[in-house]
Amino acid sequence: MLWLALGPFHAMENQVLVIRIKIPNSGAVDWTVHSGPQLLFRDVLDVIGQVLPEATTTAFEYEDEDGDRITVRSDEEMKAMLSYYYSTVMEQQVNGQLIEPLQIFPRACKPPGERNIHGLKVNTRAGSSQHSSPAVSDSLPSNSLKKSSAELKKILANGQMNEQDIRYRDTLGHGNGGTVYKAYHVPSGKILAVKVILLDITLELQKQIMSELEILYKCDSSYIIGFYGAFFVENRISICTEFMDGGSLDVYRKIPEHVLGRIAVAVVKGLTYLWSLKILHRDVKPSNMLVNTRGQVKLCDFGVSTQLVNSIAKTYVGTNAYMAPERISGEQYGIHSDVWSLGISFMEEQM
Ligand code: ATP
Ligand code: MG
Repeated sequence: MLWLALGPFHAMENQVLVIRIKIPNSGAVDWTVHSGPQLLFRDVLDVIGQVLPEATTTAFEYEDEDGDRITVRSDEEMKAMLSYYYSTVMEQQVNGQLIEPLQIFPRACKPPGERNIHGLKVNTRAGSSQHSSPAVSDSLPSNSLKKSSAELKKILANGQMNEQDIRYRDTLGHGNGGTVYKAYHVPSGKILAVKVILLDITLELQKQIMSELEILYKCDSSYIIGFYGAFFVENRISICTEFMDGGSLDVYRKIPEHVLGRIAVAVVKGLTYLWSLKILHRDVKPSNMLVNTRGQVKLCDFGVSTQLVNSIAKTYVGTNAYMAPERISGEQYGIHSDVWSLGISFMEEQM
């Protein structure tokens, strides 16, 4: 009964966990973890980074009892995976079977050369890195792990976006959630778009938002706005992104069909990329489609942080003409709801 109430985590707390990292087309590497239940998603990604240095891994998968792959890309999903794994270990123990390692399948993104197209360094942990590094078995190059955590620390210290380094220039526009400024980032000499949103929320929620925004550092698509970093100052969050000198599509009404067709292709590619990361945009509309004089079209303001979306929603006024009916009536939001908003946006932009 107690076990049922606490879940298998507690019963397994002292067990050594072996994670078998499957390498595409070439076997696997076993990683022995001594602090299994405390393991964070980020720790696993770090170790996968050691095993597969050529790839950018943003998520990994495990197999459930039916052999279906389940994606893990957050601490929550990590917990669910560990809880599932420990329950299978229990079963194996009860049946007197050998304990199988936990097999995970890294999901690789693009090679490193194509990353960090904007050449900026970013703070990836937002001050939430208090846990210790995972213990790594001999099968992994342990000095390279040390090297990587040293590098990570360097990035944390150097690359942090902060208010002191930013010079605000013009106001680009006001939305329901906040104000967007064109700004100059002194250390890098880059022009940024900084969205400042007032949020009266607790420190805990601020931390939650920062950790939810972490996935933006990993977004790497030419159809998605580049993300440079975010920080809180008192009760406002500043989100720094790539500046798009053509502004948003809402000011370009009556776009000829052959141009709109090309824009639609870019927007759909951007959305498909987000959906592949299991992110729903949730705010598809012309003002969130940005263009630049290099002919690029990029999506911005997608709902990557549930907490941020919820906090803004509390102060949201007015209606959203692009919202799908199921969303207005409070039903479940899905990819189809993004598609609805896409359709309305393009109908509006049409000549
Ligand atoms: P809502 O708050 O309801 O989403 P919105 O999209 O119009 O509405 P904001 O997201 O605050 O509001 O953006 C305000 C304006 O700032 C946009 O309409 C757009 O023109 C401009 N803008 C936003 N991001 C950028 C960017 N990265 N580069 C250039 N202009 C931008
Ligand atoms: Mg917007």
